[in-house]
Amino acid sequence: MALIVQKYGGTSVASLEKIQQVARKVCKTHSEGNDIVVVVSAMSGETDRLIGLAQKLSKSPSEREMDMLMSSGERVSAALLAITLNELGTAAQSFTGRQIGMITDAVHMKARIQRITGEKLKEALTDHNVCVVAGFQGIDEKTGNVTTLGRGGSDTSAVAIAVAVKADLCEIYTDVGGVYTTDPKVVPNARKIDIISFDEMLEMASLGAKVLQVRSVEFGKKYNMPIRVKSTFEEGKGTLVTAEQKEMESVVVSAVAFARDQAKITLVGVPDKPGIAARIFNAVAEATINVDMIIQNTSAGGLTDLSFTIPKAELLKTKGLLSDTVSKVGAKKLQTDENIGKVSIIGVGMKSHSGVAAKAFSALAEGGINIMMISTSEIKVSCVVSNDELDKAVKILHDSFDLGKPVKKQ
Ligand code: ADP
Ligand code: ASP
Ligand code: MG
Repeated sequence: MALIVQKYGGTSVASLEKIQQVARKVCKTHSEGNDIVVVVSAMSGETDRLIGLAQKLSKSPSEREMDMLMSSGERVSAALLAITLNELGTAAQSFTGRQIGMITDAVHMKARIQRITGEKLKEALTDHNVCVVAGFQGIDEKTGNVTTLGRGGSDTSAVAIAVAVKADLCEIYTDVGGVYTTDPKVVPNARKIDIISFDEMLEMASLGAKVLQVRSVEFGKKYNMPIRVKSTFEEGKGTLVTAEQKEMESVVVSAVAFARDQAKITLVGVPDKPGIAARIFNAVAEATINVDMIIQNTSAGGLTDLSFTIPKAELLKTKGLLSDTVSKVGAKKLQTDENIGKVSIIGVGMKSHSGVAAKAFSALAEGGINIMMISTSEIKVSCVVSNDELDKAVKILHDSFDLGKPVKKQ
């Protein structure tokens, strides 16, 4: 008998029929003698629908109210799944984030989990009931406000709950068979990866592979909770995300990730003197906006251009808060570009192999793709390209590192 946490994403609970299908799966695992905590997302498209409703009423709705609104989607699917499980004869209870004591910080719409008190879960599990938990949500202890964990946050709810209840297994069920060498919906010959290190998965997730939310992988790594990503609708072992193992280093590049959710801001004609960058980025950091890539051009006539990328969703907010800073630091103007995309190659083997970045740049050049910005770390190379060329760039890099072929030592 094991204690298993299973998370079902939006596409897995997209309709009543699919909820019934998920319920049958849960019943089967339960009838084999296991205790189960099921974490669910909102029905597919529901979170976007709710955001759309708010946007019809306001250009910049309060983030507190957005959290109240968005958290309702998960509550609906949790209750519907519990109802279905009870109908099938398996005792189940649904819980909101608040009910299981999912305590987060106070940063609305991208709150971080601080701890899970979990009394209700423990009680329900003692009675061998299936616990169905609404993912993506928590509460700020000080104010009692509902918070949400950022898009894709139910993955993080699931891994954090798995850690809190000391689960034997954390399974993330989704609409693809596991973690692939790139998004199989964009590159059909992408190959499923059987086992991947937390570090590579962290890079993949933070660079746009939305199959797992980055914070879920951070939790997995921090508490050494292996995560198995599998398909809800097809049989298969899926992908195991786990601590790094020696043989993983033989693969130089293991995946290509991409993101369309970034925008570029350029401050044109910034005086090139000490302290300017600090003022600009302090203003952005104070608003808890994550800056990704930064490029400063060489100075001409004492002026320089400073470009950086931020999440597209925060463009309006960033523009607003920089409007003062732009004139205070004496910059000529602020330009924005939303038509960008970021493509990245990832692999722990890059630590011990050279020439990987050069190979990637050459492949993109041969494909006629212009690189606007570059950033690298020990295990990744990222390039910002035009959004219109992003899919092509992904395919080119996936092909040039032979990722669609069975694994061989590179
Ligand atoms: P869920 O609703 O189950 O949480 P998501 O849409 O959040 O599902 O994540 C699954 C999707 O992630 C897949 O349908 C796929 O399009 C996308 N994806 C992007 N990169 C990858 C990758 N490397 N491997 C698998 N899926 C990926
Ligand atoms: N429903 C939320 C979203 O669409 C959370 C999740 O699916 O994990 O982002
Ligand atoms: Mg998801």
